[in-house]
Amino acid sequence: MPTDTDQPDLLEDADLTEFLDFQDDFRADPAFVKREKARAQEIRNSQWWKNLRATGKCHYCGRVFRPQDLTMDHIVPIARGGRSTHGNIVPACKECNAKKRYLLPSEWQEYLDHLASGSQPSQ
Ligand SMILES: [Zn+2]
Repeated sequence: MPTDTDQPDLLEDADLTEFLDFQDDFRADPAFVKREKARAQEIRNSQWWKNLRATGKCHYCGRVFRPQDLTMDHIVPIARGGRSTHGNIVPACKECNAKKRYLLPSEWQEYLDHLASGSQPSQ
């Protein structure tokens, strides 16, 4: 079994902070964010998540990585009202995770469309 590192937790925290910074249109209730973050932490320790991550497959680009290189990603970020449910949590590689973080939702959709069409986004 691969051992967990502290890194994904740090990334998750960075995610949330940055989403809160630029998602001015959505004011997440701090109590909601706190609750859903706690649930995400529980899910991170669950067998469901460990099995999912063990596949090594990034939900977005479909490439296969070492499990420890995958991070937990909320499809709809908690800061925008997303819940910590199995349907909203996916494994993502660091590259996709980073892209998703700094792209606008419309730009992110464009990136996904690029992936779906099989062409590499220029960059
Ligand atoms: Zn990816």
